[in-house]
Amino acid sequence: MAKFDLYRELTRDIEPPVISLENVTKDYVDGLHALKNLSLQIDKGEFVFIVGSSGSGKSTLIKLLLKEINPSSGKIMVNGKTLSRLRESSICKHRRGIGVVFQDFRLLQDRTVYENVAFAQRVIETPAYKISREVPRILSVMGLSEKLDRYPSELSGGEQQRVALARALVNNPVILLADEPTGNLDPKNSWEIMRLLEEVNRRGTTVVVVTHNREIVDAMQKRVITLNKGVLISDKKGGYSNAKN
Ligand code: ADP
Ligand code: MG
Repeated sequence: MAKFDLYRELTRDIEPPVISLENVTKDYVDGLHALKNLSLQIDKGEFVFIVGSSGSGKSTLIKLLLKEINPSSGKIMVNGKTLSRLRESSICKHRRGIGVVFQDFRLLQDRTVYENVAFAQRVIETPAYKISREVPRILSVMGLSEKLDRYPSELSGGEQQRVALARALVNNPVILLADEPTGNLDPKNSWEIMRLLEEVNRRGTTVVVVTHNREIVDAMQKRVITLNKGVLISDKKGGYSNAKN
């Protein structure tokens, strides 16, 4: 058993999962389940892929975890909090514990790389001295030290996604959610992003990655949760190909 797996076994009873869903159902339209009776747990420090064909409920799961939408029934806990019990005033704090990246990067086009990342700290009123220390640090981890003053339109897709990752991570979230982060990238840049996600995970962040990239999932041999039409059909360690049986 790998050292980290052993640690997780030993601490399982002490540390509750960072993400827990119990019988979660989400209907957008009456009678049509985007997610149906979904139960799963993700422990602190795990790296998990979520796979499944288009429309299987992957993005719905991400939105539920962020409390952008609420389940029709069932219970969701994130970072020790039951989401249905969060008041309006606590929702911001809840989201602060989660970094998110999307397929389409979602950068502010009229701001530089530095400002895109600093923005995530300004909105939570981080002191200026901390911003000027943290922003270059995380951009350096992402290999972007040379690009601080560039605008998103001057960057490649891979670089833009690395800025988005820096922005998602600058406030040290417990969880990183990535919804098809390599969907717009070529294989080389896709691998670069995955390598960074693995590094982020190695440093202790729990990482959940929605992806269609079979080759990467097969190569990385992580836990793979497969959804099909809103139902969890497989949850095991290994590749994409063997996930369904
Ligand atoms: P995935 O990310 O796996 O492609 P989604 O979670 O986006 O799947 O969607 C799951 C199902 O819910 C699909 O049938 C989709 O059409 C439906 N759906 C998603 N968002 C909405 C919405 N805002 N209103 C109505 N139906 C939706
Ligand atoms: Mg989706």
